[in-house]
Amino acid sequence: MQKPKLIIVVPCYNEQEMLDYTTRELSAVIARLKNAGKIGEGKILYVDDGSKDTTWSLIEKHSKEYEEVCGLKLAHNVGHQNALWAGLEWASVNGDMSVSIDADLQDDTNCIDEMVDLYNKGIDIVYGVRKERKTDSVFKRQTALFFYRLVRSMGEDMIYNHADFRLMSQRALKILMAYPERNIFLRGIVPKIGLSTACVYYDRKERIAGESKYPFSKMMALAMDGITSFSLRPLQCISIAGICMILLSFIAIIYVLFTYNFGHVAWGWSSILISIWLIGGAMLLSLGVIGEYVGKIYREVKRRPRYFVEKIVDGDKEETLGKDW
Ligand code: UDP
Ligand code: MG
Repeated sequence: MQKPKLIIVVPCYNEQEMLDYTTRELSAVIARLKNAGKIGEGKILYVDDGSKDTTWSLIEKHSKEYEEVCGLKLAHNVGHQNALWAGLEWASVNGDMSVSIDADLQDDTNCIDEMVDLYNKGIDIVYGVRKERKTDSVFKRQTALFFYRLVRSMGEDMIYNHADFRLMSQRALKILMAYPERNIFLRGIVPKIGLSTACVYYDRKERIAGESKYPFSKMMALAMDGITSFSLRPLQCISIAGICMILLSFIAIIYVLFTYNFGHVAWGWSSILISIWLIGGAMLLSLGVIGEYVGKIYREVKRRPRYFVEKIVDGDKEETLGKDW
């Protein structure tokens, strides 16, 4: 039987400090896997997510120096999830399995061996799961934990402490590509594919160079996408809150009528003011949540492309796309 082809998909946004190290490490992984006879061929696919530094020229350079490196240049910064999608789409056509990993290699590359072993045993999706988050700041750890719990409580399937470090077989990738949505949150979609799955556990390392491209605002945006792309629970909560409010207002009406009958009508200014604020706030919040979904629908119905590929390099081969657009 022919040995499988592995594609390691690495999204990169301003990662010039990391790329030398990353290429060396990942090509060592590929060499190791090939020598052990676990894969027939291996490729590192860098997806340049519209970087503003020298990331793309480094990718081109590495692609000439290392036979296994190839690169995909996106025309514009589309965010981690979309960039990863671009890479996975390429991998679904060109390989038998893909492993996605961040360019900073905070995830343990030794796990890739284990993932490939599991693939060779017939598993379609292998999740890389962090044992502990010692190297993350307390803030990042706590917000991540809170987010996982929140998503879980909304009835969504998500693997705890798993980011986007995972192996997917070509079959799983093909199924993934059938998901048409534009608000993508891979951690939420992949568990929905089903098929046979497994987890490998590792310790997450510190970023070696460069800085995190996930500042608090982007983390919040991802969390918000994670929830509103999958769950209708927030909308249901609004209805429940509305029902509770109506019940409460019945009690308030009875109370008002009671005090009216006993002649205390002049006072009550404060309670009215409080209810105006409370109800006003609740309505604004509810509108906000609904708006969030309406915005999503708006973006989905536009059916905009997720990304544009500007160029592909693979060794000396270079394709420039987009001339006809
Ligand atoms: N990334 C990307 N596009 C973006 C932001 C980030 O492709 O707009 C990539 C980045 O280069 C890295 C990965 O996504 O490979 C994860 O980013 P980072 O390591 O900064 O996130 P953290 O580990 O801090 O959550
Ligand atoms: Mg990182």
